[in-house]
Amino acid sequence: MINVKNLHKKFGSLHVLQGIDVTIEKGEVVVVIGPSGSGKSTFLRCLNLLEQPTGGEIILEGINITDKNNDINKQRQKMGMVFQNFNLFPHLSIIDNITLGPVKLKNQTPEQAKENAMALLKRIGLEEKANNYPAQLSGGQKQRIAIVRALAMSPDVMLFDEPTSALDPEMVGEVLEVMKELAAEGMTMVVVTHEMGFAKEVGTRVLFMDEGKIKEEATPNEIFTNPKDDRTKEFLSKIL
Ligand code: ADP
Ligand code: MG
Repeated sequence: MINVKNLHKKFGSLHVLQGIDVTIEKGEVVVVIGPSGSGKSTFLRCLNLLEQPTGGEIILEGINITDKNNDINKQRQKMGMVFQNFNLFPHLSIIDNITLGPVKLKNQTPEQAKENAMALLKRIGLEEKANNYPAQLSGGQKQRIAIVRALAMSPDVMLFDEPTSALDPEMVGEVLEVMKELAAEGMTMVVVTHEMGFAKEVGTRVLFMDEGKIKEEATPNEIFTNPKDDRTKEFLSKIL
């Protein structure tokens, strides 16, 4: 589904991604781990072109999305993104947060978009919050809304950048639960997280990133029980 070839990203003289090669199959849940500053967020942001790569290619469903002749907005719609800090629009109600994209970018009628949004809210048990504003919700609720807002665009891939890192501990579970359901439904997911329980339970593969490269790639079981790279071992010894 996604084929990344020799991906590079520089910010000025800072060479953040130094040649990433990875293939992600349809239905996979790829968990990305690695120390702070190793380029995990930059990698995700390059995948959906929030950052312009400075080298290499990203092929999404057979289309080279790094080719400037392609319509970036159309390609980007195939990928939903969930951020650490939710990034909901604070001045819009929950329902408007969810329907904005489908109406503006997918030509849905407001009625269609609303019906779909209510079904999504129902699914996460938050339909009674439709007319509230983000500030009136808990962190866990905001993040679940952010997930269904991305789903309302019917993406083929979901990208998550440390979706539970900003949450109080008691709210982590409810967000992971929604993500696990998505995985069980066959959604292709790339998830930057240090939630190793999640990685073990639903991850099909773990990528360990360090200094802008994928240093090790293995199944969750392999990487947690028998890491090969010294940097992977050192990192895992700190977080497990
Ligand atoms: P991680 O998510 O693994 O913590 P990041 O991808 O956020 O790492 O950052 C990797 C490196 O790139 C860091 O040194 C960070 O300061 C730098 N960086 C990230 N975004 C930018 C930017 N927009 N401009 C300049 N440097 C950046
Ligand atoms: Mg990051």
